[in-house]
Amino acid sequence: MSLKSSYDYIIVGGGLAGLLLGWELKKRNKPFVIFSNDQPASSSVAAGTWNPIAFRQMIPTWRAQEMIDKMLEVYSEIETVLDTQLLKMIDVEKVLANEQEIDFWKTQAVTDISKDFLKSEPHVINIKGEERYAGIVKQTGRLDLPEFVTLLRKYFADLGLLVNEDFDYNNISIKGEAVNYKDIQTDKILFAEGTYTSNNPYFNWLPFKSTKGDVLTIKSADLKVDKIRKKNIFILPIGNDVYKVGATYDWGDKSWEPSEKGKAEILEKFEKISDCTYEIIDHKAGIRPASHDRRPFIGEHPKHKNLLIFNGLGSKGVFLGPLLAQEFCSFLIGGGEIHPEVSIIRCFKKYWKEA
Ligand SMILES: Cc1cc2nc3c(=O)[nH]c(=O)nc-3n(C[C@H](O)[C@H](O)[C@H](O)COP(=O)(O)OP(=O)(O)OC[C@H]3O[C@@H](n4cnc5c(N)ncnc54)[C@H](O)[C@@H]3O)c2cc1C
Repeated sequence: MSLKSSYDYIIVGGGLAGLLLGWELKKRNKPFVIFSNDQPASSSVAAGTWNPIAFRQMIPTWRAQEMIDKMLEVYSEIETVLDTQLLKMIDVEKVLANEQEIDFWKTQAVTDISKDFLKSEPHVINIKGEERYAGIVKQTGRLDLPEFVTLLRKYFADLGLLVNEDFDYNNISIKGEAVNYKDIQTDKILFAEGTYTSNNPYFNWLPFKSTKGDVLTIKSADLKVDKIRKKNIFILPIGNDVYKVGATYDWGDKSWEPSEKGKAEILEKFEKISDCTYEIIDHKAGIRPASHDRRPFIGEHPKHKNLLIFNGLGSKGVFLGPLLAQEFCSFLIGGGEIHPEVSIIRCFKKYWKEA
């Protein structure tokens, strides 16, 4: 593909974050190109579920209803253009541990803040011949994220808006308001490289706390779970007796290789909330681009205003991505603000030092 000599925006990274930015810029008719290489991506491993409830307090997570509304709107637009279904609403079924948790659920489910997200009465499920209680979280589901990434990359590539090429930071030159990448002139470079930001000399000072996750795909004819069952791990039914089971959180291991330790941990937790024969048909691992305070990293470089970051989606990319990408694009084009909770300005004082 031949590149043009100028674009308003260059996006680095063709995972969920970069693709959502591309989507928003395209809607606004802004010229852009995405650079994406073939390194493993978190988006190609993720189960793609979302859940708007923080289980410890049984209250909605940050801006939950806004996130869900925008998410459903944007993924539906993308499904229409790609002419396929990628998103499915599926209830989350949270297995409750004891009487105390059941009572807490019942109390929280009728509060103004949580009632739109929790069904009030927990129901009985049978695990290993024992009666247990589970509560239903509403407005939950799953986006087939690996498929989303594959199809949207192809869509942009076919339009000449995505190149399968490594972006080399050594070829950036900044001249006042304008910035060049090799021979291409651009107004702004938007970095969305997931955990590979560690290679980016302009943003590698941000306090990422990336987390490895292993996830299994199993086949079981007798599991018969039709909701996203959650207790320490999730069991996600994806059809034809196939389930995704995971995921682990490992802050020490930085490799993308699936680990035996991760697999053993998943299976131990899985067998506590299921009773079935099964076969493992796939095992994958990836690294979530998580931040030190579990909020994304969005905004302008403290010195070079034409270099910006959209990253740190952590374990909630599907949920947070659409609204934050839209707000970020409104900021880029003028007229919008980056929410202070996700703005990288919060990190300037403590983490950034001018070289
Ligand atoms: C096991 C696991 C389970 C998960 N489950 C869920 C879930 O159920 N729900 C959910 O919402 N989220 C989940 N996540 C998190 C989700 O994957 C992330 O929030 C999201 O995908 C991050 O997207 P990203 O685009 O920031 O990063 P990535 O998907 O990693 O994409 C970054 C891209 O940038 C490219 N790149 C980097 N540097 C360069 C360069 N110099 N030149 C060119 N290209 C470059 C990379 O090759 C990659 O394609 C899970 C993650 C893991 C690992």
